[in-house]
Amino acid sequence: MRKPIVAGNWKMHRTADEAVGLAQAIAPLVGQSLATCDVVLCPTYTSLGAVYGVIRHSGIGLGAQNMHWESEGAYTGDISPAMILTSGSTYVILGHSERRQYSFESDKMVNRKTQAALAAGLIPIVCVGEQLDQREAGRVEEVVVGQVRAALEDVKGDQAPSIVLAYEPVWAIGTGKTATAEQAEEVHALIRAFLTERFGSENAGAMRIQYGGSVKPENAEELFSQENIDGGLIGGAALQADSFAAIVKAAK
Ligand code: PEP
Repeated sequence: MRKPIVAGNWKMHRTADEAVGLAQAIAPLVGQSLATCDVVLCPTYTSLGAVYGVIRHSGIGLGAQNMHWESEGAYTGDISPAMILTSGSTYVILGHSERRQYSFESDKMVNRKTQAALAAGLIPIVCVGEQLDQREAGRVEEVVVGQVRAALEDVKGDQAPSIVLAYEPVWAIGTGKTATAEQAEEVHALIRAFLTERFGSENAGAMRIQYGGSVKPENAEELFSQENIDGGLIGGAALQADSFAAIVKAAK
């Protein structure tokens, strides 16, 4: 049995004060769900410390939205695994499609970051997903499994269970278009099959694969009830405490 995990990706929204207010509103609403679902809040870097102050004793996890793979150095504007860890974070989102698109992150970079997160003791949430034209060209398996393979290159079997994957079809992110539960489950099952081949059934069976892409309270339950969907990575709906809490409640 895998414990589902629901993470709120707040992207470049909310100042530190606003982030504190949002975390304060979310914490009491999701408290009862924490026994059956891991909940993670991912504010922007400058709000990590302040949000940690709100949730540190709540059982809610904290995550960053990106990081560099080097432990330190002349990388202006970047942030290291240790900096994230010491902000109170235990998770880090890696390879989000917006970073692949706007910051030109390659599969190789996502792999370096994944290795660095594991070495630092952070739980990576590794995002993969196809573009609409790739889906229309029948290339979903090639693209998505290819991204998973590249992101997890050189990862050892015993490291695999602590990795979270997020399948996020790019055409569904922030667009209001959700993959149907069947479309999502089909891709999650393909990912699980690859993980089983790569890491063995026990390790692969322990890995959580979130779905992300316009998840809302209205569609969360059907998506999360699929065999290989273990919760969600939530963007827009994570910015309202009540909708985020309703999505968490749908993940049992
Ligand atoms: C995301 O940012 O990872 C995401 C899935 O966004 P949204 O829920 O807004 O589609």
